[in-house]
Amino acid sequence: MKHQLDWSSYETAGQGDAYAGIPASGGDFAKAVAVCINDRLCQRKPKGVMCPSFRATDAPGQSPGGRVLLLKAALNGELGDAPFGDERLAAAMDLCVGCKGCKRECANQVDMAAIKIEYQAQRNLALGTPRRDRLFASLPRLLNHRQILRQLVRLRNRLPLLASLGERWLGISARRRLPEPSPQAYRAPVASNPDGREVILFVDTFARHFDPAIAQAAHTVLTAAGYRVTSLAPSTDDSQPARPLCCGRTYLSLGQVEAARAEASRMHAALRPALEAGIPIVGLEPSCILSLRDDHLKLGLGSDAEKLAKQVYLFEEFIAREHDRKHLQLELKPLPGGKTLVHGHCHQKAVGAMKSLRKVLRLIPDFEFEFIESSCCGMAGSFGLDAEHRDISLQMAELDLLPAVRRAPDASVLANGFSCRHQILEGAGRQAQHVAILLERALA
Ligand code: SF4
Ligand code: SF4
Repeated sequence: MKHQLDWSSYETAGQGDAYAGIPASGGDFAKAVAVCINDRLCQRKPKGVMCPSFRATDAPGQSPGGRVLLLKAALNGELGDAPFGDERLAAAMDLCVGCKGCKRECANQVDMAAIKIEYQAQRNLALGTPRRDRLFASLPRLLNHRQILRQLVRLRNRLPLLASLGERWLGISARRRLPEPSPQAYRAPVASNPDGREVILFVDTFARHFDPAIAQAAHTVLTAAGYRVTSLAPSTDDSQPARPLCCGRTYLSLGQVEAARAEASRMHAALRPALEAGIPIVGLEPSCILSLRDDHLKLGLGSDAEKLAKQVYLFEEFIAREHDRKHLQLELKPLPGGKTLVHGHCHQKAVGAMKSLRKVLRLIPDFEFEFIESSCCGMAGSFGLDAEHRDISLQMAELDLLPAVRRAPDASVLANGFSCRHQILEGAGRQAQHVAILLERALA
């Protein structure tokens, strides 16, 4: 089997006898699978917050450990000559939303989110990439024609017949509204504070085209804090210099590894001078930024990827870090209104990045907030938009997130993930905000 991801870093992973059951084929990928020791702690009751697909279905086969059993069978030749096209394995992997809950909570840190990318890439090789996955993954490219796409999405959201046709032809749930691109994409303001410390603001596809106010707010806050904020532009030898840079997350999460690698390489080329100069890179969308730190290290892109992983920060991580270093000149005032409920993106929770969010929220005088104890919101990129996944996606959200939001009808909601905000809007009718917007409002 030719791996699509670079699994060599797994050579030393695992604890104790974790490698006792390494499958016969699959090399380093098999080792990553074999890290699971089948102690079934991920199926314990009362159910913790680890795996939303297990919690929503109550089926052991929909837990990380259950998935490993099928993956081992596939790699041991028990599912035939084309195991990645096997429907039993597909049934086990289908509801994994790639939330990394297992990487955080399983004692052996089974990284099923990364394993699913390899699985999906192998399945795409065996059976071809589904039309819907090609469409969703290529969103950053489609948004080059943003006005056409915007009109199409608006029409589809308003005409039930178009939504039904979209479900029949593409498998996109007619019972979901699709996010509509904003009328104008983000335009970077001219940098001020010429003598300030430089920081690069990486504006991802979602902030750029759907929520430009978030990127604008981040720019304003960082500028108010004394930084010289520059934007990330493609390198001059890029073959597509007019196209904004993208981390490749949409491709990677759907197993389109080559396309993700190409996007990541464009980013690395553009960032090389900044990486050499040690300039911090700050981003807004947790799945994009944390992908640069984690999954991108499995793209086999060498030292650029490693440098970037150490130099890229979530907006709130950067604010918290600079506050600790006493570099921050940010004057904040109390905000009107009552309590704010905070839903953390599952990847933020997986890497322990919620601490910085808590620290930043404490910078706002008298700010009352409460973290919602929840796992993945269930939207998980495009997962919750799929016709066959729409109901289970909402079931995942109903485990903790949506009931908590409904229990506090007067509270504001904060969620930094684009998909999380979409799920909260669809499931509870509440518009959640990004922390950059909150800080902008709190500027004195
Ligand atoms: S995934 Fe982790 S918790 Fe679940 S059975 Fe395997 S080792 Fe145990
Ligand atoms: S990544 Fe999330 S959904 Fe997938 S197995 Fe792990 S905990 Fe479950």
